[in-house]
Amino acid sequence: MECFHCGREVRETTHTQKGYRVDYYLLHTGRTEWSFLKDPKEDGATLHYLKLLEPLDIISCTGCYDNPRIRERLDQDFNGSISILDGEAIKASEKDTSPPPDHG
Ligand SMILES: [Zn+2]
Repeated sequence: MECFHCGREVRETTHTQKGYRVDYYLLHTGRTEWSFLKDPKEDGATLHYLKLLEPLDIISCTGCYDNPRIRERLDQDFNGSISILDGEAIKASEKDTSPPPDHG
C-alpha cells in the first residue's frame, strides 16, 4: 500500500505492549455524482443523492495527515464539498525543499 499523496509505502497498524502504532489513515471515498430520483406519484418529492461511481480508499500516511493542506482536502472530501480526486495534486514533498522559517 502507498500513500495517496506522497507515494510512500505505509505499514499496517502495529500493536505493541503499550498500545498500537498507526502509520496511515484511510478515507473511504470515490467519484460521486449528484443523481435525482423522482417519485412517480404526482405530488412526490424529488430526491437528490450522491451516487458513488467508483469506490476508492484514500490512504494518507501520518506525515501527510499532519499537513494542514492535505487535512483540509480530506475534510472537504468527507463533507462532500470538493472531491479530493478532482482537486489539483498536492505536492507533499514541498515541505522538504523549503522548511518554514524558524522564528523563536
Ligand atoms: Zn504521504
